[in-house]
Amino acid sequence: MSMTVTLNNGVEMPALGFGVFQTPPETTAASVAEALRVGYRLIDTAASYFNEREVGEGIRRSGLDRPEVFIETKIWISDYGYDETLHAFDKSAGKLGVDQIDLLLLHQPVPTQFDKTVGAYKALETLLADGRVRAIGVSNFMPGVLSKLLEETSVVPAVNQVEVHPYFSQPAVQAANAEQGILTQAWSPMGGITSYRGDSSRSTFNDPVIGEIAAAHGKTPAQVMLRWHLQEGRCAIPKSVRPERIASNFDVFDFELTTAQLAAIDGLDTGVRGGPDPETVTPEAFGRDIPEA
Ligand code: NDP
Repeated sequence: MSMTVTLNNGVEMPALGFGVFQTPPETTAASVAEALRVGYRLIDTAASYFNEREVGEGIRRSGLDRPEVFIETKIWISDYGYDETLHAFDKSAGKLGVDQIDLLLLHQPVPTQFDKTVGAYKALETLLADGRVRAIGVSNFMPGVLSKLLEETSVVPAVNQVEVHPYFSQPAVQAANAEQGILTQAWSPMGGITSYRGDSSRSTFNDPVIGEIAAAHGKTPAQVMLRWHLQEGRCAIPKSVRPERIASNFDVFDFELTTAQLAAIDGLDTGVRGGPDPETVTPEAFGRDIPEA
């Protein structure tokens, strides 16, 4: 199994990356540097995580050359609209301290302001044509809104980053992405959202089916869930601020789940999402000012 995936425009992206949502700015640089030290080469951040500057610092601290690290960030909805999104690129690139971003996503569709969402995506197309970004994509786009976007724009997104973990695996969304040649990238890939947002006694980390599979391989539940994504062809971006977990979450390239084990994990889907319903995201409820670089 390859450690990289090839996007629909030929760009190679690591299949397993490192997320920094909810990582406080003061620990972000250290977490990112530690992740790069143990082998991750993809960092996923977002303007709305308010830690892009520290992600850039962590990358510089690692000593790796810029092309060795794949940097992914997201435009927040408050910066949608063609001109606003072009400027949002400058804000993110400035904070990250880079000239080029590897993958730039629209963080959420805004169904009540779809013209601005389309304008924002057209700005991503311009940034791609100008070489300021190497690939563009979306996040939290359900099939209906994705088709509407495809009708009004010309570059098919390379990636749709959506909530996918054993308790909410969105098979219809994954199928709609695959039909268009869009890579599904799993956010909350270990179901972290089932513990930090829900009742932790019913979290994916404590699931008995996953626990049994983990015991059979001498691996942790987290490692089994990450391996499940990779074997099913998804990119996954686990987050941790703890060095031992940062390392163990990357140690997933020395075992193989059986077809029956993959199917058993597929069977855990409850159909209940942990994150907000993307249809309900409005600037009124979710708008946040993204500071200048
Ligand atoms: P994850 O599935 O990555 O889980 C992270 C949570 O699990 C944290 O609370 C972490 O705590 C804990 N954890 C990490 N490793 C282990 C382990 N080995 N055993 C037990 N617990 C563990 O979920 P996230 O929601 O954090 O998502 C990951 C990334 O996805 C984000 O960082 C972000 O980049 C992206 N994301 C994107 C969204 C979007 O709308 N596009 C929405 C949400 C996330 P600790 O840090 O203390 O280890």
